[in-house]
Amino acid sequence: MSNNNPQTQHWQDLSSAHHLAPFSDYTQLKNKGPRIITKADGVYLWDSEGHKILDGMAGLWCVAIGYGREELVQAASAQMRELPYYNLFFQTAHPPALELAKAIADLAPEGMNHVFFTGSGSEGNDTVLRLVRHYWALKGKPEKKVIISRVNGYHGSTVAGASLGGMPGMHEQGDLPIPGIVHIAQPYWFDEGGDMSPDEFGVWAAEQLENKILEVGEDNVAAFIAEPIQGAGGVIIPPDTYWPKVKEVLARYDILFVADEVICGFGRTGHWFGSDYYDLAPDLMTIAKGLTSGYIPMGGVIVRDEVVNVINQGGDFNHGFTYSGHPVAAAVGLENLRILRDEHIVDNVRAEAAPYLQKRLRELLDHPLVGEVRGLGMLGAIELVKDKATRSRHEGRGAGMICRQFCFDNGLIMRAVGDTMIIAPPLVISHAEIDELVSKARLCLDLTLEALGG
Ligand SMILES: *Cc1c(COP(=O)(O)O)cnc(C)c1O
Repeated sequence: MSNNNPQTQHWQDLSSAHHLAPFSDYTQLKNKGPRIITKADGVYLWDSEGHKILDGMAGLWCVAIGYGREELVQAASAQMRELPYYNLFFQTAHPPALELAKAIADLAPEGMNHVFFTGSGSEGNDTVLRLVRHYWALKGKPEKKVIISRVNGYHGSTVAGASLGGMPGMHEQGDLPIPGIVHIAQPYWFDEGGDMSPDEFGVWAAEQLENKILEVGEDNVAAFIAEPIQGAGGVIIPPDTYWPKVKEVLARYDILFVADEVICGFGRTGHWFGSDYYDLAPDLMTIAKGLTSGYIPMGGVIVRDEVVNVINQGGDFNHGFTYSGHPVAAAVGLENLRILRDEHIVDNVRAEAAPYLQKRLRELLDHPLVGEVRGLGMLGAIELVKDKATRSRHEGRGAGMICRQFCFDNGLIMRAVGDTMIIAPPLVISHAEIDELVSKARLCLDLTLEALGG
């Protein structure tokens, strides 16, 4: 693609000369250069060439209230003037972090009243690993160390986050997972359900948790960690039988349950947390992304009272980050939560936006390339297939990548996970913008089908 704006080339040159990008194909990036995003408003982005793009991914799942909210800018600048930085180490604290902890506790499930702040979701899951092991050690069971996670789960990109996650491509690089983390099957019926019905498969996948607990030994297991809905794995909505059965298993064994709410938290499912939607009653919840609508980095872990009571008797917890509870991030988070609450955004997702998005998305099921459309709240997935009945793929053709490129070129950001197209638009997307998203998606499915040879 040739550039209209000479600045584009300048920035692409800087990219190739000086920047190492996260999660990018380096060979491709070197040849082609990145698309340069220069501004945003509402649900739209603009690139340096002046193209307007509907952001069907809310950035990376995070821009819940949409771009361009002046209130968050004001909150950040006011806090920068008052107290731009101080830490929460060594018996100090500051008002924004404490006010935000209270605001989060007010929204969290019953009995979860404390927050440990971090700079990101990955740091949140590192904190989870440290915290759950510390908890069991204090309870006199230091051998309870193993954390059970799921294949194709995503829990971040630090060493603990990537280890807890079940992404083979991430494990290959850097000799992961670290010891003490084991993985079980994911509840991904479309790709892995075989001849089972979704309900049968959901029970089977939940039973893998019990099998693993028995294999490792209950006395060695600290926790099970899972996203209520796997996001980066491909917006995998578990079969209806999955979570009820997992809850049954968890009730039989003395292990902690960690819900990674980094995507599901703060309204994405039409409830404050995915754990509310599925009634999961976790012991810990990892949060980030929607907490600040991505305007500034922040994450954390919400911890159940019972766990807090134990660690409160344990003296030092030797863990924390320079930017834990950063005052500017906390001020932005507080204002973001105020907007989500006062503008009834989560209620509106549940009552209006999500039902409309889900209804419109499912219309794509009549497309010859589409084997399944699934979704919940403001999350959606479209499975690209060769044969609808057998759920077989256009093997080795890169259908997802082809579709993603057509989307980009036609003013829509949809992400591809293999041959699964996924969306997670800002929670504030209007019906007219949903119409635009769905019609652009259909156009790009047509173009993809054509490129694959019909
Ligand atoms: C994005 C994500 C993380 C990691 O958060 P970062 O802020 O990128 O470190 C962890 N868990 C889930 C479920 C995520 O989607």
